[in-house]
Amino acid sequence: MTTFAPSTPGEHGTSAAGGAEERPAGGAEPARGTAPGPGTPGTPGTLTVLDPRDGSRVGDVVEADREAVVDAVRRARAAHDAWMRTDAAARGQLLHEAAAALRERAPELAALNQRETGKPQGDSLGGVLAGADTLRQYAEIGPLHRGRSLVGAREAADFTIDQPRGVVAAITPWNDPVAVACGLLGAALVTGNTVVHKPSERCPHVGELLGEIVAGVLPADVLVTVSGGALTGAALTEQPDVDAVAHVGSTATGRRIARVAALTGAHVVLENGGDDALLVDADVDPAWAAEQAAIGAFANAGQICTSVERVYVHRAVAPAFVEALVAEATRRNERGELGPLVDGRLRDEVQRQVDDALAGGARALVGGAVPAGPGSWYPATVLVDCTSRMTVMQEETFGPVAPVQVVDDFDEALALACADRYGLAATVLTGSIAHANRAVAELPVGTVKVNAVFGGAPGGSAQPRGESGAGFGYGPELLDEMTLTKVVHYGVPVLAGERGATPRSAGGADEAPRTVATAGSADTAGLAGLASPGSPAEGGAPAAPADPPADDTGTGRTPHPQDPAEGGDPDDDTGTGTGAGDEGAGGDQPRVHPSQPAEGED
Ligand code: NAD
Repeated sequence: MTTFAPSTPGEHGTSAAGGAEERPAGGAEPARGTAPGPGTPGTPGTLTVLDPRDGSRVGDVVEADREAVVDAVRRARAAHDAWMRTDAAARGQLLHEAAAALRERAPELAALNQRETGKPQGDSLGGVLAGADTLRQYAEIGPLHRGRSLVGAREAADFTIDQPRGVVAAITPWNDPVAVACGLLGAALVTGNTVVHKPSERCPHVGELLGEIVAGVLPADVLVTVSGGALTGAALTEQPDVDAVAHVGSTATGRRIARVAALTGAHVVLENGGDDALLVDADVDPAWAAEQAAIGAFANAGQICTSVERVYVHRAVAPAFVEALVAEATRRNERGELGPLVDGRLRDEVQRQVDDALAGGARALVGGAVPAGPGSWYPATVLVDCTSRMTVMQEETFGPVAPVQVVDDFDEALALACADRYGLAATVLTGSIAHANRAVAELPVGTVKVNAVFGGAPGGSAQPRGESGAGFGYGPELLDEMTLTKVVHYGVPVLAGERGATPRSAGGADEAPRTVATAGSADTAGLAGLASPGSPAEGGAPAAPADPPADDTGTGRTPHPQDPAEGGDPDDDTGTGTGAGDEGAGGDQPRVHPSQPAEGED
């Protein structure tokens, strides 16, 4: 159940000049974003969401308790069979309709997102439209998701098919709530999974409206949304009927989910926090490098998983770089370009890290303190004289903070950048191909960006490393995560009336079946040892026997190795064609190649 506090455009004051972010006026209590409602913390209750711009109440949402979560999973499970059997193209078509519906209601969803998370209007709208685009992409590429074929026996067919995992729990954050959720929903749904989505407790109204829009075009219960916080998420993760959990969020939560999934056996995809380094080399233009650093550290008020979290700048350009970076931050603060942080809880954590740095000898050249007034605003902040001992250099700081450490050479920058427990992404700004190549080779992260902090190709996907997660959370590869691959081997049937002349095994009845005919070929013998689905022992693709004889029957049918005329059992004189009387050549036996010696010929 959801209730909204009324809001109209302009209710919270008008934008400042110069395209500044809308900053509401009013004397409300300092924002704490999502305040715990009755019954929380401890037990699920009611989420009361406050506008981070001014602390005004956005509305209340009742958290799903364990019983509601069990029911949601039960409904998604019940809907799975029919959804799985729906043609991929039809599922894609429905996702196209969902994308269109989302686009139509984008302004409404964006306005709600702005109220719940403080994300500036343009960014909010961009996020919703990006979500619609992502649904459209998955609508297109989902039906094209294909398996592989394997080279096996000439008459056999070996290939893979991908099947949905079942019920997917999608657990998402607030920092770009529509775009991120649409990626998981799109990939899971188009591949035939049903989904229980748990949006962030910091923007539950956005999550519920998104669910209403997308589920509105789908069959009942193919997408079920449950609202709530960590307890609701934990209850969802614990359900034995959940086949996969896809979590985008903090590293601490990802670790908890991985532990629970280890017990339930659910597949896990984790896209978690980062501590992305920016390396500024000696030969780059310092003003350009400062622009890049500012975009990376201050966009979305630093609340992006791949924000620039720590800067290592070469001593040769450090003074000019820092001066330009301070100018970038100052301009943003003066024009009010940054939105607020999502809530006071996050702002407190950001300030804690800044205070730790200041206590350790850093200096704030701009920003660095909580401003007076309502809302959870925080200024663009530049810290200098930072060292790797400071929390701000070691941890993700989900706020607009650019901590700078000066280094003597590129080697030092690279070594510091590599010494980190996260592994999401990193950027190197350099004119040196050699340095770029070293950074690409050595940085232990999923994404290395050379000479641009943002702007990767749409549909790009990477595997985060270290404490940043596991698995592909985006792009075409997410379709693989949402499916299980099955290997299929088709052999050739022995039709009624055809059987009766199967070549005998060269050995006695106890001899292990021989499946690789080109005896004496070291290569083939080597392959035969590679047991796998479809391995020689099972008549599958790897270690295929030599080509069977060419078709000379005039029937268009390639002679079967077990055809009597092509090496079949010469002793079969039953005349029944049933093979009755065959020794060791029953229907279940592995196929034997005609070039294999006949019984007793050894
Ligand atoms: P969070 O992990 O606290 O919350 C994310 C979701 O997990 C929410 O829906 C929350 O209710 C749920 N949750 C919390 N505890 C849970 C539990 N024990 N079991 C199951 N679910 C639980 O993260 P957040 O604060 O909402 O988001 C910010 C974080 O997300 C940052 O660390 C950011 O880097 C990360 N993030 C990563 C990516 C990426 O692609 N790597 C993208 C966006 C955000």
